[in-house]
Amino acid sequence: MTEQRTARPIRSVAIIGGGAAGWMSAAAISKMFGRTVDVVLVESEEIGLIGVGEATVPHLSAFNRLLEIDEAEFVRQTQGSFKLGIQFNDWGQIGDSYIHGFGTIGRDVGMLPFHQYWLKARAEGRGGDIGRYSLNTVAAPLGKFMASASDAPPNSPLAEIAYAYHFDAVLYARFLRRRAEAQGVRRVEGKVVAVHRGGTRGFVETVQLETGERIGADLFLDCTGFRALLIGDALDVGFDDWSQWLPCDRALAVPCEKVGPPTPYTRSTAREAGWQWRIPLQHRTGNGYVYSSRFTSDERAADLLMRNLDGKPLADPKPLRFTSGMRRRLWDRNVVAVGLAGGFLEPLESTAIYLIQAGINRLMQLFPDSDCDPALQTSYNAQSAFEYERIRDFLILHYHVTQRTDSDFWTYVRTMAVPDTLRHVIDLFVANGQFFRSGTEMFGLTSWVQVMLGQGLYPQSHHPAVDWVAPADLHALVDHVEKVVASNVSLMPAHEQFIARCCAAS
Ligand code: FAD
Repeated sequence: MTEQRTARPIRSVAIIGGGAAGWMSAAAISKMFGRTVDVVLVESEEIGLIGVGEATVPHLSAFNRLLEIDEAEFVRQTQGSFKLGIQFNDWGQIGDSYIHGFGTIGRDVGMLPFHQYWLKARAEGRGGDIGRYSLNTVAAPLGKFMASASDAPPNSPLAEIAYAYHFDAVLYARFLRRRAEAQGVRRVEGKVVAVHRGGTRGFVETVQLETGERIGADLFLDCTGFRALLIGDALDVGFDDWSQWLPCDRALAVPCEKVGPPTPYTRSTAREAGWQWRIPLQHRTGNGYVYSSRFTSDERAADLLMRNLDGKPLADPKPLRFTSGMRRRLWDRNVVAVGLAGGFLEPLESTAIYLIQAGINRLMQLFPDSDCDPALQTSYNAQSAFEYERIRDFLILHYHVTQRTDSDFWTYVRTMAVPDTLRHVIDLFVANGQFFRSGTEMFGLTSWVQVMLGQGLYPQSHHPAVDWVAPADLHALVDHVEKVVASNVSLMPAHEQFIARCCAAS
């Protein structure tokens, strides 16, 4: 017989930190539990937010639906734009360009994904660039966008178009704050100066503000960003450093004036010691250079960034420092680290806000009683580590699969030893174009395939079953998909027009 537990339900949650992590958590928890759980959020205006984090992945729309956020209002209030994927320039070799588009490439036929048929057609001199078979990668460089499937023809790929958002990070935190406060979250302004623990398991009992006020709760969320006040300073949970594979450890961020209509994609341009981002918003363009301090100086990085802006800078570049890696446990005792306090994977595929969302979802699924049963923590930590590690591997892929030899940085990442988990994915793809999705890993086949092909990694062969398809049928399939994509893209309005019609900021 199992022993009767004495734990009572969680009645109070204290969220320490009010960046995207803090306010996303506050909005979600107050939505889920209503007023049955008392939610308080502590943040310090003096410390402020990191203020970057402006590109996302398509999963955010599910979070918005959970919160019943109206998309047009959300885009309007955050000066947002839409994102069909990421354009990678100069990554395989200088002069190369490809798009990692969201959504699908072609369609599965039988048990095989479209790219297997395409590989054979290409070997026979028939298939064009893989990007020609994806709605997103064809539409993005043409500046086209459409979110709603309401006017899409039947069976059209437009009905399932996958997209994400770009937004102003500060406006996003404000937007969520308004919603969370309306749902009953209490905000406390102040700086936490001490964390008090007690009980047999060393749970956090209160955090103390500069004013002397103490805030107690059953469960604490550490959303203090890189400071990691609770999970790091108070609970001393160690950090796994992944910088041997992801050596970029600094960034300079600078907004510039908008030049021309916002592109419906993020741009990532590889530079001598890292890469530069370009994120188009309605009112400005966000830019930044992510680089490795082992391979370049801050002065050289600033010079390179400022020479490569396409509009007039609106501020001085803001320096940021980080280490890619994650806490050994994101949940320890009665503290769950969400956002940068828990870990950081550099922003190459815009995954940090997704990881916040995934962490919140996981916490909702495994929401504890006041005893924070260790079995729930073990499950939370194992799932989180799996997710972080798979995204880590996907990011390393971009660096490792390059032919660039023009700087010490590129030579290092091209020749470094990579994790066995990534080695396996690469070997499998090279063998005959295969990819197996494991568990709940975030990036699926189309993402991995687009990056591997985009950077010049081609399989030696294709799946043997493709050889059973008659050549005429194979060529007809590939030609048909290309035509369907092109005709659907021709129905899409310009991205700017779409924004003006649905969600222009006033
Ligand atoms: P923060 O925004 O740093 O918030 C921390 C909060 O804690 C603040 O409110 C602060 O006031 C509070 N705080 C800290 N100490 C105390 C204290 N003692 N007392 C009280 N309050 C305190 N993510 C993406 O998804 N897409 C991107 O394109 C992207 N680009 C990025 C580019 C760079 C260069 C970097 C470094 C990150 C990027 N990210 C991106 C990550 C993204 O910025 C963060 O995941 C996101 O902003 C969440 O941050 P946070 O809330 O964890 O931390």
